[in-house]
Amino acid sequence: MTIHTLRGFRDLLPPESDIFVRIETAAREVFALYGYREIRIPTIESKELFVKSTGDTTDIVEKEMYAFTDQGNREVAVRPEGTPGVVRAYIEHNLSQTGRNGKYFYIGGMFRAERPQAGRYREFTQIGAEHFGNPSPFADAETIAMLVKLLEKTGVTGLSVEINSLGCAECRKTYRETLLNHLRLNVSTLCEPCKNRIERNPLRALDCKIDGPALAEKAPRLALCAPCAQHFDRTRALLESSGVGFKVNPGLVRGLDYYTRTVFEVKTSALGSQDAVAAGGRYDDLVKSMGGPQTPAIGWGLGLDRVALLLKDTMTETGPGTFLVSASKEAQNAAFKLLGELRAAGISADFSDFELSLKSQMRSADKSGASLALIIGEDELKTGAVAVKPLKNPGGQRSVPLSDVISEIKKSAF
Ligand SMILES: [Zn+2]
Ligand SMILES: [Zn+2]
Repeated sequence: MTIHTLRGFRDLLPPESDIFVRIETAAREVFALYGYREIRIPTIESKELFVKSTGDTTDIVEKEMYAFTDQGNREVAVRPEGTPGVVRAYIEHNLSQTGRNGKYFYIGGMFRAERPQAGRYREFTQIGAEHFGNPSPFADAETIAMLVKLLEKTGVTGLSVEINSLGCAECRKTYRETLLNHLRLNVSTLCEPCKNRIERNPLRALDCKIDGPALAEKAPRLALCAPCAQHFDRTRALLESSGVGFKVNPGLVRGLDYYTRTVFEVKTSALGSQDAVAAGGRYDDLVKSMGGPQTPAIGWGLGLDRVALLLKDTMTETGPGTFLVSASKEAQNAAFKLLGELRAAGISADFSDFELSLKSQMRSADKSGASLALIIGEDELKTGAVAVKPLKNPGGQRSVPLSDVISEIKKSAF
């Protein structure tokens, strides 16, 4: 009996894992440019955190959350998204007072317990950014522009940005009533889950995959209050001046309870569907509603698995620069020593088993994807040389003095 991954989970193997590393590296570089620093939060939190922040009428909490009772009889959940944990940490560590610029990013696994289906796993990786303490449209424009820069840097093409404003609690209060009246009048046309939750959360119907499209056409539109309208105007103007192309989509409402004012999604034509690769928005009331000080905030999350899928064509098997081969028993120590010297000089080097036959080692060298095989045998020991054999481009084997081999490789003389 062998043990397998749990249903809905997967192993990420090289070279696919290389793509993930590449995206994460690009993300870290962009975050550094924008003054973001990494925050690492627990994978498991109290279930209440997500119910209170993400919202108990959202799909994430209602249907998809990986929650259970632990041995201590506590209701816990494996995080379905990153923002609630970061907000909890922000409040718990009093970061509004002690944090530097309120900019944090995270990279890590998120979980959902929905039925496994093709291409959707129960654990997926998300990169997220949260910026606390800046209420101005400059923060909105900067956050969106950074997300686009990051995606461009990974090599994803055909990007398009959609934005909308959901207004503040004030403008939403009026809208909630208007929309609720409309929904009550048309309740027979709604799907069952929406019918059951319109009184608690009428806005969710707009985000419903079944009812959303029709409602986007017929339902009354949110009218922004003057400050919210001004904020949205300024955000759009700043995006334009930053050279970020975007489209206003009044139907964009996002499925989470905590968003206020600006919300956005980044899509790519390469995915073909309506699915976004990244999405986010402002959440000016969340920190306070979770027990912290009134703190404006904005953030986004990016689905790494999805971006990786888009970059799958660029996946390559990379090998080490050099592969050491010992052609005789006497040369084994010299080969092992050179291996260390190459690495110390910053040249990647690998080997298989110096005790195997020359033929077998050369087979491993070919399989390794290395550019050069460095062979040391009896002759080389006598003359103080290394036989250098290019493995990728056909070319002759050359004998190079041992003392020169590192500098020759560095000069790319092969
Ligand atoms: Zn407003
Ligand atoms: Zn519905």
